Amino acid sequence: MASFNPKQFGYNVTFVGEEKKTSVLNSDQKEFAGGIDKDDITCAICHLILRDPVQAVDCGHRFCKNCISQFHQTNPAKCPMDWKTIQIFPDIGKKREILNLQIRCQNHEEGCDWQNEIREEENHLQNCGYERVSCELKCGEDILQKNMQKHL
Ligand SMILES: [Zn+2]
Ligand SMILES: [Zn+2]
Ligand SMILES: [Zn+2]
Ligand SMILES: [Zn+2]
Repeated sequence: MASFNPKQFGYNVTFVGEEKKTSVLNSDQKEFAGGIDKDDITCAICHLILRDPVQAVDCGHRFCKNCISQFHQTNPAKCPMDWKTIQIFPDIGKKREILNLQIRCQNHEEGCDWQNEIREEENHLQNCGYERVSCELKCGEDILQKNMQKHL
């Protein structure tokens, strides 16, 4: 897991109004508050919410920019879903739509009640008191950011 960089893939987020975080999508979970069709904003490769979406002209499949370029390193110009030869282009409209979606903080189960647009997530996580970080004194414990002063 050392080389795993989540930013290479889509957004793993919980939307406002969505009951429970789910990493695997099935047809029952297609619809959530707001009536947005989740299939429409999900990357066909990483199954997360599209980050920098691109669309294949020929078949309409959508992927995160990073996901498809990684795939194309071994399978140039192929669609991983139907193996058509495809051309891709950045889907600016979809990107804007996704960045506007309201999400909850990924630490909401720890108690953070922040909610805002996806575009604000990165900023928030830098300041989120409920982010779990390793102890500054390297005692080996993981502590919520907001409890660090108390812990030290
Ligand atoms: Zn396709
Ligand atoms: Zn992806
Ligand atoms: Zn938070
Ligand atoms: Zn400590």
